[in-house]
Amino acid sequence: MSKAPRKRATDDTKATRSKATNTAETTADEESESLDALLGSETSTNAESAPKVSVGEELGRYDYDLIVMGSGPSGQRAAIAAAKLEKRVAIIEQRSVIGGVCVNTGTIPSKTLREAVMRLSGFRDREVYGASYTVKERITMDDLMFRVNHVIRHEIDTMRHHMMRNDVDVISAQASFVDSHTVRVNFSGQHGFRDIRAPRILIAVGTETTKDEHIPFDGDRIMTSDDIVDMKELPKTLAVAGAGVIGLEYASILAPLGVRVTVIDKRTELLSFVDSEVIDTLVYEMRQQRATFWLGEEVSRIEPYEDDAHGPRVRLHLASGKQVTADKALYSIGRTGATANLNLEAAGLSADSRGRLKVNEFYQTDVPHIYAAGDVVGFPSLASTSMEQGRVAANHAFGVEVTTMPSLFPYGIYAIPEIAMVGKTEQELTEAGVPFEVGKAHYREIARGQILGDSTGFLKLIFHLETLELLGVHIIGEGASELIHIGQTVLTFGGSVEYFVNTVFNYPTLAECYKVAALDGMNRVGG
Ligand SMILES: Cc1cc2nc3c(=O)[nH]c(=O)nc-3n(C[C@H](O)[C@H](O)[C@H](O)COP(=O)(O)OP(=O)(O)OC[C@H]3O[C@@H](n4cnc5c(N)ncnc54)[C@H](O)[C@@H]3O)c2cc1C
Repeated sequence: MSKAPRKRATDDTKATRSKATNTAETTADEESESLDALLGSETSTNAESAPKVSVGEELGRYDYDLIVMGSGPSGQRAAIAAAKLEKRVAIIEQRSVIGGVCVNTGTIPSKTLREAVMRLSGFRDREVYGASYTVKERITMDDLMFRVNHVIRHEIDTMRHHMMRNDVDVISAQASFVDSHTVRVNFSGQHGFRDIRAPRILIAVGTETTKDEHIPFDGDRIMTSDDIVDMKELPKTLAVAGAGVIGLEYASILAPLGVRVTVIDKRTELLSFVDSEVIDTLVYEMRQQRATFWLGEEVSRIEPYEDDAHGPRVRLHLASGKQVTADKALYSIGRTGATANLNLEAAGLSADSRGRLKVNEFYQTDVPHIYAAGDVVGFPSLASTSMEQGRVAANHAFGVEVTTMPSLFPYGIYAIPEIAMVGKTEQELTEAGVPFEVGKAHYREIARGQILGDSTGFLKLIFHLETLELLGVHIIGEGASELIHIGQTVLTFGGSVEYFVNTVFNYPTLAECYKVAALDGMNRVGG
């Protein structure tokens, strides 16, 4: 397939001017690119359900081959995948910087904050040097954010570079539908709007924090998870309403800094999809850091007030009549698909009550040439899976054969201590009537665990009682989110627990836990 050379976008404005033209301004070069693009897609089409576009349509009427709304992990990955197929791609981002929730307010900031806390608080060394050990006295938000901002800046730079290198036009504007092929890009301030068209569109707009109307959020005393990294000072006390993954991550990250954390959730069981022994250990560790849990309690109202002794504070009124007071409250009850301003109806689409879009296994919506990927399609709402969804969607859109996302993926919870899991839990297997056995290794029995000073971590293998096939791996402790991938690989290939018994791991490593847990499990079944 011959390719016409494509113009490199040097900056957002130029990119917008050169590509985001209306129909009448479509150039001969662009038309020939379109024809190449079309021929490319026809010759490589394997996926029958990929949208078909006629030559006439492709030639005259489109500014791009693919328009991507949103520059988070799913949008970026889709844009790059399409660009690698020599397609003309525009990615529209309403924030002033690309990267989405992942880079700017969610994954990267929270994980970097965690790392900063671990290092500056000396948390990893407290087992050896004592509970009061700290690397820096009086850790401030500025200390923590120094590292966070450094990483965010680097990630944004790297992503922008990828976009430029792949000739993806980055348009800084808010996107909405005019019709199912036309996207309006609304520039902020006095810059007006422009309509651009493409035969294929990907909705990758992610989510926004869910805000209950009765909660008086002010981004300071009463925060959502987006506000945490904007805190000017660390509070002495923090009430966390909502013990989902995000709420628990932040509660456990701030507790080792001496912040007195109270976690409130209306459910009586924390993270029910996680192994219950793992959760027990997390709660134990957080209680060691003086965290308090109020489970089975619903927050009905939050009220800011002035306290003579402590200054500005918040009071959380619980449905049971109890009250919790704190310097700040983090209200974290989930996220809603960011579809409210997309004018979905114009494209023949509608979202569910949580702003989410329904898609098939290739991330096609009910309108086949419009795809949706990432958090906007709901579960599992991870950066890791969002990236893959974007890649699958873009390849499918251009008729490239692609296997859909694997159903088996690891889950990491970056609390302190870290948690990771892959495969089934004991509870799921019990409910499904699958006979299983468990093998466990505690970090404290492994040389590397002693060296690291992690005495509470453990790794648990769950395997089929008769076939010995590995069914699930659950880890809590240092390095859990890395260690899990060994288990993921064996699970993916349908391996048995005997693999771990017979293999050799580096010594001393935490990976050795796999062997010790396998031996423990085999002893239980008399193997
Ligand atoms: C606190 C927190 C911690 C997390 N930790 C992890 C973790 O450890 N591991 C993990 O895998 N995942 C984690 N996640 C989840 C992860 O961040 C998301 O799964 C991921 O960012 C979703 O990617 P996305 O492509 O759907 O888009 P998002 O990252 O949500 O980005 C969407 C982008 O679209 C833009 N946009 C929205 N509407 C428009 C519009 N109309 N026009 C133009 N642009 C628009 C938004 O401004 C945004 O930049 C975390 C999330 C949070 C909030």
